[in-house]
Amino acid sequence: MDYFKYKKNQLFCEGVPVERIARRVGSPVYIYSAQTILTHWRRLKAAFQPARLSARQADQPLIGYSLKANSNLAVCNLLQRAGSGFEVVSGGELYRLLKIGVPGEKIIFGGIAKTESEIKLGLKSGVLIFNVETKDEILLINRVAGRLKKIAPVAIRLNPEVTPATHLYLITGQKGNKFGFYLNDAEKLMREINSLPSIRLVGLHMHIGSQITRVAPYRNALKRVVLFIEKCRGLGHRIEWLDIGGGFGIHYRGDEARPARDFARVLLPWIKKTGCRLIVEPGRFIVGNAGILVTKVLSVKKSGRKNFVICDAGMNVLIRPTLYGAHHKISPIKRRSDRPSIVADIVGPICESGDFFAKKRRIQSVQPGEYLSVFSAGAYGFTMSSNYNSRPRPAEVLVDGSRYQVVRQAETYHDLVRLERYH
Ligand code: PLP
Repeated sequence: MDYFKYKKNQLFCEGVPVERIARRVGSPVYIYSAQTILTHWRRLKAAFQPARLSARQADQPLIGYSLKANSNLAVCNLLQRAGSGFEVVSGGELYRLLKIGVPGEKIIFGGIAKTESEIKLGLKSGVLIFNVETKDEILLINRVAGRLKKIAPVAIRLNPEVTPATHLYLITGQKGNKFGFYLNDAEKLMREINSLPSIRLVGLHMHIGSQITRVAPYRNALKRVVLFIEKCRGLGHRIEWLDIGGGFGIHYRGDEARPARDFARVLLPWIKKTGCRLIVEPGRFIVGNAGILVTKVLSVKKSGRKNFVICDAGMNVLIRPTLYGAHHKISPIKRRSDRPSIVADIVGPICESGDFFAKKRRIQSVQPGEYLSVFSAGAYGFTMSSNYNSRPRPAEVLVDGSRYQVVRQAETYHDLVRLERYH
């Protein structure tokens, strides 16, 4: 579901023609739809609402929106106003939330390795939970918290050893990858944590991967985690929170995403068994279908029998196609019935053969100066962008109804060299 629709062959984001934004703000540009973001957030919240232990827990389940998907301050602020919590994995992401006034009790601080200064910042900000996945980090948190005379609330991330069907790089809960503790190791750790005076084990965490469109891997993982909670409680730990991670898939090709209620229906009985308060950490599900990347065609070239459509955005702006082999739908923002279709590679201006958005894609023929929309680019788009080839990063725009706002200006050449010194 999203609010990007063609009206009379012109692409609109909510009530605003996409071409108007591209012409006024410049190209390339990321455009986000506020109503799409809020609709996805509300759907997820409503689907898991039966996990509430009592009617008084209005903030339950806690949706810990995962900033890594899209950390623009305006996007975070929109979600904050909707009542969202957040999941961060670095001091920088935490800083963004503090900047817009998110209270610590709405923040989960995860990530596989945190530095001492990040831990300090987390403790001083009063984050709700540190999600932890190495013993060294638990010991470090204990030391830092002790020095600050605080007790750190910690959840252990488990590796439930399941293999969801998604890109290899997006699997995070299977045997052999770096994330979480295997259950045997976690059990040993549970005993040791009892002797750490500045740590309070308050929860368990799992996150099995990203862009997952089947429920079964979640169910299999969750069953293991739920049984493990009993063990922890047997060892005297009050486990109050269960964090089932994110990873819910979205539409890239068509309608491959499952509605949130499908996941909730299967998972809720297991969640309820635990008596825990629930955290869900979606990123892509909230913002993925809520963003497009608009890019201008710079040239159209034929090499032998092959067509290339060369755009002003490349892998430095959206790396997903080359990094994950990801499919993004691509269409001109103006549809013309008088144009034939061609089969082309849609590529960027970067000096790499891996610089492409699509290969052998059938598309209405286009001319230099016309704009294309790359759909489902709201998650892991701008946040994974870079300045490779010394290209300034594009602007970001947030549309709400018939209004739009530039929520990050396009970088300039000055921004590229601002921090450098040569004498
Ligand atoms: N939580 C953790 C621990 C993650 O590593 C990620 C993504 O990598 C997320 C949440 C968000 O995942 P997604 O955007 O697929 O929902």
